[in-house]
Amino acid sequence: MAAAESSASAASAGPNTLRTDCVIIGAGPAGLFAAFELGLLELGCHLLDALPEPGGQCSALYPDKPIYDIPAIGVCSGRELTQRLLDQLRPVQPAMHFGQLVSALALQADGRFDLRTSAGLRFDSGAVLIAGGAGAFLPRKPKLDGLERFEGSQVLYQCGAPDALAGQQVVVLGDDEAAITAVLALAGAAQRPSRITLLHRRDSLRGPPPLLAEFAAARAAGAVDFVAGQALALSATSSRLNGLEIADAQGRPAHLPADTLLVLLGLSPKLGPIADWGLALHKRQLRVDTGQFQTSLGGVFAVGDVVTYPGKKKLILSGFHEATLAAFGVQARLRPEAVGALQYTTTSANLQRILGVAAPS
Ligand SMILES: Cc1cc2nc3c(=O)[nH]c(=O)nc-3n(C[C@H](O)[C@H](O)[C@H](O)COP(=O)(O)OP(=O)(O)OC[C@H]3O[C@@H](n4cnc5c(N)ncnc54)[C@H](O)[C@@H]3O)c2cc1C
Repeated sequence: MAAAESSASAASAGPNTLRTDCVIIGAGPAGLFAAFELGLLELGCHLLDALPEPGGQCSALYPDKPIYDIPAIGVCSGRELTQRLLDQLRPVQPAMHFGQLVSALALQADGRFDLRTSAGLRFDSGAVLIAGGAGAFLPRKPKLDGLERFEGSQVLYQCGAPDALAGQQVVVLGDDEAAITAVLALAGAAQRPSRITLLHRRDSLRGPPPLLAEFAAARAAGAVDFVAGQALALSATSSRLNGLEIADAQGRPAHLPADTLLVLLGLSPKLGPIADWGLALHKRQLRVDTGQFQTSLGGVFAVGDVVTYPGKKKLILSGFHEATLAAFGVQARLRPEAVGALQYTTTSANLQRILGVAAPS
């Protein structure tokens, strides 16, 4: 069994509490590399992110854009970098949990940490490594009273399986590639909604020209509708959403029927809970020392875009360096007896055993 796996799952403090060496908050490039470095030190970890997938900004903001300043990689896209980081850490098998916000962190009497997530997970962790970037990427929400009442049932922030909305009247809020792609996926589903309407303030959409052409063709064929207008209010009974009250492009009131409202207005980072944990901040970034990347609270480390120190540069390669030193910091706190001479992956039989690669002859 891999070190990370055994350490993460062998002992649980309770039936619903996962006991581990280190919880990593944020699965952007810094968090992913930190999981690898912790694995090399045979420390278990659980990696968590509010997004449904790993990669942080690289996945959420620029998956297809080129990056030219990753050492020894001439060029790669945000998506490709994420995939390479995932491939690299596969041997150390960290547990990963997506689509949930780490909402609470508390120091316990025994010096370990109690962490809770928005999805109800609870951790008893020896250390915490915050790699939260600019904050948790959460969906932008329209200002509509009562929206929360229908979240998860009739108000969705991800498209999911298009067939799940078969026969429904679906209104999609948004104007970009993600919204248009979702509309076309719904229109192309084997069991499609009865009506699919894209609602945006203006009759101008953003996306690659072939996608816009595909949308225009689907609109012309009557497979999808487009309404230019502003959502003003939900139309609902006490238990069920039945549509939206809107102002059309001329400012006239109108009713748009909907069984499901799919909100695809993009993501915005919210530092949110991280700013409420009593850790020293400077301009909404965590203060750390540059030897171990520890915050003002012993046992809580932080790396990547979320930290500040003299000379900090918000670059991916800085996050990799910080993650490496923070992993050694976690080791010094949890396994001081294991701290020894630096080992190289090139020559260390121990590291090669952890990585599952044969030692060179
Ligand atoms: C358009 C663009 C182009 C860029 N190009 C380059 C480039 O060419 N080279 C370069 O070096 N850098 C580039 N950057 C910067 C680079 O992307 C960042 O420096 C890097 O992503 C920071 O990594 P990170 O892991 O610290 O944070 P992020 O990538 O921001 O990841 C943080 C993750 O933490 C999660 N999170 C935060 N709080 C919580 C919480 N409470 N619970 C659960 N999850 C949480 C977030 O959802 C997010 O996924 C670019 C940035 C942008 C926007």
